[in-house]
Amino acid sequence: MLPIKRQQQILLWLEKEQTLRISEISKRLDVSEMTVYRDIKPLIEQKKVLKTSKGISLQPKTPNSSNVCSYCLKPIHSRFAVQLIKSDQEIETACCAHCGLLRYQDIEQEVSQMICRDFLKDTTISAKMATFMMGTSLNLHCCEPQVIVFESMDEAKQFQKGFEGELYHFGNVIQAIQQKMSGRTCRHFEK
Ligand SMILES: [Zn+2]
Ligand SMILES: [Zn+2]
Repeated sequence: MLPIKRQQQILLWLEKEQTLRISEISKRLDVSEMTVYRDIKPLIEQKKVLKTSKGISLQPKTPNSSNVCSYCLKPIHSRFAVQLIKSDQEIETACCAHCGLLRYQDIEQEVSQMICRDFLKDTTISAKMATFMMGTSLNLHCCEPQVIVFESMDEAKQFQKGFEGELYHFGNVIQAIQQKMSGRTCRHFEK
């Protein structure tokens, strides 16, 4: 099978199944995992496919519905925007990781995936694989407590040397946000 045919097949499977492991693709196509990686590399570069903690999935299409945060209703600044992809394929967008994570907690059952942007490189990453940082001295003028997203833990640590802050992962960041807010709601509600 030609690489282009395999790529088409992978995209078809992803449309139906949403997420696929590399090992599963390799088995189905009867090619090595190396070959699968080579096949999906251009798809990732073309932003058709996204690497996730579970393998690969389709890159969500840009939402056209609204341009306000689904949590605090503030207008969305795309650079920090976070997308919540629900199991029914509907996409919600939050203005920043702060809102994205709090919204995620509200509708966790419905969310199949949460996509963030790396603060330094602007690449998209699955929230479950990201490193989060709070309490830095850099003010982004979005929601408080501010949450910055990094793809790489090493880069997050480099950043931490200059701007301070504490590091979190997906498993403990939501609780930390809530602790810092100590019962207050997102400040944009108050306006
Ligand atoms: Zn928001
Ligand atoms: Zn925000």
